[in-house]
Amino acid sequence: MSGDALHELLAALPEDAVVVDPATVENHRRDRAELCPAGSPLALVRPRTTEQVQTVMRWATRHRVSVVPQGARTGLSGGANAVDGCLLLSLARMDAIIEVDPLDQVAVVQPGVVNADLSRAALESGLFYPPDPSSWEESTIGGNIATNAGGLCCVKYGVTGDFVRGLEVVLADGEVIRTGRRTVKGVAGYELTKLLVGSEGTLGVITQATLSLRPAPEEALTMVALFDAVPPALEASVQIMSSGVRPSLLEFLDGPSIAAIQAYRDMGLSESAQAMLLMQSDRGPLAVDDVAAMGELCERLGAVEVAVASDREESELLLAARRMINPAVEKVGASFVDDVAVPRARLIDLLDGIARIAADHDVQIMCPGHIGDVNMHPHVVFDRGDDAAAARAADAFGAIMQLALELGGTITGEHGVGTLKRPWLEQELGTVGLRLQQRVKATFDPLGILNPGKVV
Ligand SMILES: Cc1cc2nc3c(=O)[nH]c(=O)nc-3n(C[C@H](O)[C@H](O)[C@H](O)COP(=O)(O)OP(=O)(O)OC[C@H]3O[C@@H](n4cnc5c(N)ncnc54)[C@H](O)[C@@H]3O)c2cc1C
Repeated sequence: MSGDALHELLAALPEDAVVVDPATVENHRRDRAELCPAGSPLALVRPRTTEQVQTVMRWATRHRVSVVPQGARTGLSGGANAVDGCLLLSLARMDAIIEVDPLDQVAVVQPGVVNADLSRAALESGLFYPPDPSSWEESTIGGNIATNAGGLCCVKYGVTGDFVRGLEVVLADGEVIRTGRRTVKGVAGYELTKLLVGSEGTLGVITQATLSLRPAPEEALTMVALFDAVPPALEASVQIMSSGVRPSLLEFLDGPSIAAIQAYRDMGLSESAQAMLLMQSDRGPLAVDDVAAMGELCERLGAVEVAVASDREESELLLAARRMINPAVEKVGASFVDDVAVPRARLIDLLDGIARIAADHDVQIMCPGHIGDVNMHPHVVFDRGDDAAAARAADAFGAIMQLALELGGTITGEHGVGTLKRPWLEQELGTVGLRLQQRVKATFDPLGILNPGKVV
């Protein structure tokens, strides 16, 4: 890359849009997947408009420079990590909520809007944007769409992709496409919106999104059930989901996860419990019956304690504790985070298998998860600086994905492939499936400049 080419980019964009200061660029080099490789970027670009993104992509095409789109870099699979000689393209400054429309029940937003800010804005109009990854106070709508993020409410309402009606996307060559629509229904042409959702910045740069909203639900009632062993908690989750009750949240923490959260911050969780289910119902007056039914079921299956949160503060504290698992595990050690999902009937086999993998590889595995969706997050933890333990942990991490595939599941329920799970993708998609996906990638990005080395 010649200095002239970089000067050309600097001249084409506002002064503060291109950053070459090494410390700032270094700070943007990687996401939160601690163990994924990250290359040395050329510069960081922070556009404020779609036109500026187009300028960047036209320049990158002309000079054959790789571009790595970034939101808040909370990703857990290395998807936003730099590759050598790339431009880091941060969409964080494109953070306008353009409109919240109560009539069509949609929001139109730029990609850098933080998830929780959109939720709060929707609520002001009596509306609800359900997808709520635990990173919701940090992660951006662009990143959520690019990873098809899940979250705690998804058990009842669905994941990010279920709420994306249309997108504005800058393609690799700088052209703009608009996919989907604002209306509820519409079937004109191939469903490119769904193709772009979850594409992890490899097919185009999302510069605007039209998102479905719902009427805001009633305030949820929260309940916690504690168990002195894991199997009855798993069984309770399975039975709750196959009963008539549809919780608006159903989360799981195992004993080591509870202990890690308590060690990180005293959240008043029971230190002796080996498993915890956190449940909510948001059906207004019916929530009391829902919660009672779920509580009875837990007790029948051996819960040692079942308690309903007494007020909103206690309820928020319990949810905050659940959302704390990632920083809590980071305090314990380095970790590889799996993100597997299996059919509900195989949940117990998955947890048994994970326990076996931990013993066989002599590693600690903590296993929180969105259990209502049977999407578990086994964290394979090891001491930073212990190379032998790191190698055993890496093997255990792979063995968990292998197990999920054998159980009829997937290697990633919501965090994406990035670089972390790329070696296992062919096993899930099949050789022909992977080849077809590589052709799709080549159609969108013939020069291979958009987030190369990620996903396919
Ligand atoms: C504490 C914590 C809790 C988490 N909890 C959850 C959870 O409950 N559910 C869940 O699904 N995930 C969770 N995650 C993972 C992460 O927050 C999500 O993957 C999130 O969607 C990433 O958003 P981001 O803005 O940080 O994107 P980044 O990490 O910056 O980017 C993620 C991917 O999207 C691409 N990308 C970003 N913006 C754009 C754009 N505008 N156009 C095209 N591509 C783009 C990037 O290239 C990259 O491949 C959690 C992470 C943390 C640290």
